[in-house]
Amino acid sequence: MKRVVTNQQQAVAGSSDQKENAKKVAAKDALAANLADPSFSKEVIDWQKQHGRHALPWQNTRDAYRVWLSEIMLQQTQVAAVIPYYQRFLQTFPTVESLAAAPSEEVMAHWSGLGYYSRARNLHKCAQAVVARHGGVFPSDPVVLEELAGIGRSTAAAIAAFSYGTRAAILDGNVKRVFARVFGVERYPGEKAIENEMWLRAVALLPASGVETYTQGLMDLGATLCTRNRPSCQRCPLAIRCIAYATGRTSELPIRKPKKAVPEKSTTMLLIVDDDQIVLEQRPDKGIWGGLLSLPEMDAALQPGNADFDVAVARATAAFGVPGSVEKLMAFSHTFTHFKLHVTPYRINLENRLQIAGQGTHSWYPLHRMAVAPLPAPVKKLLLALTSEPDLLSAI
Ligand code: SF4
Repeated sequence: MKRVVTNQQQAVAGSSDQKENAKKVAAKDALAANLADPSFSKEVIDWQKQHGRHALPWQNTRDAYRVWLSEIMLQQTQVAAVIPYYQRFLQTFPTVESLAAAPSEEVMAHWSGLGYYSRARNLHKCAQAVVARHGGVFPSDPVVLEELAGIGRSTAAAIAAFSYGTRAAILDGNVKRVFARVFGVERYPGEKAIENEMWLRAVALLPASGVETYTQGLMDLGATLCTRNRPSCQRCPLAIRCIAYATGRTSELPIRKPKKAVPEKSTTMLLIVDDDQIVLEQRPDKGIWGGLLSLPEMDAALQPGNADFDVAVARATAAFGVPGSVEKLMAFSHTFTHFKLHVTPYRINLENRLQIAGQGTHSWYPLHRMAVAPLPAPVKKLLLALTSEPDLLSAI
């Protein structure tokens, strides 16, 4: 029966959604109030003023173009590597307009060597959008900045804070590391729920004023003291409150990305050999080892001594001759990006070889050509061992 929803029912449902949302916002606000701690930003700001970095080429300016350029270059790249690129870039493209108008090959050529080239493509797109949509002026609102190519939430906040003093929180890899250690975060910070909590904390800890120095302080702390390996805790302004330092767990925090269990597969490979020749199979273009030559395979569940195994071997060799002795060779494994393959090879010596060169995708190949044949690396290794050290391959 069709259910009729009345206006009154819709209104009730709407108001219960609103109540639910209001509850969530209230819970978030309460959590943020809990996380707020003005002494945290004060310690960072005081330390930055005294011990932080003050003479980097992109500091001491409010020019959003320069700030933006440095922030993009510093994503995934160390300060020392960025400096010469930043300076050369500014010489050639001194304004956002000059960068927007440049041919993309010239922009890419100036980026060449800095790596992560999607950054350069986005940089160019972003410059063109700033000119076309914002009259050549970078927006001061991080939410609007985030709509531009190559600018994520943390980068948007850094640009807005350094260029306009906007009160916005950063959370880059360095800040995540500092937070994970100071607050003893016991789960991998890349997990969405943990990252969301960190964002809440990052916003709650923002100072009422001095956001520029605070933001620079967090960056400097992560880059110079709270380094990935062997952090300099004795000189750290946050040591007194740092859970990782107090519990001797600076090498364990942040928790590393949990490794996924790699799926495992098994196969049986057949080395059908006659004198100095072997049968190889041309693999289909798609799939693993696509387009290469490899050994014929059969179901790994089939074991010698079992009739199905003999039938499968006879079928695999039917086009080439009658199988004689079957010898199990040493098994090996090969790890692909997404799975691990366990291979059990069997050498099959043919009695009564049929005088045909091949059939379908399977053909005879001379064993002495294995070094130059287009074979997958583990199969090539196996076949080279077969020709040079056959005894070592014996499984028993
Ligand atoms: S005390 Fe050590 S581990 Fe903790 S924030 Fe400072 S440098 Fe990092």
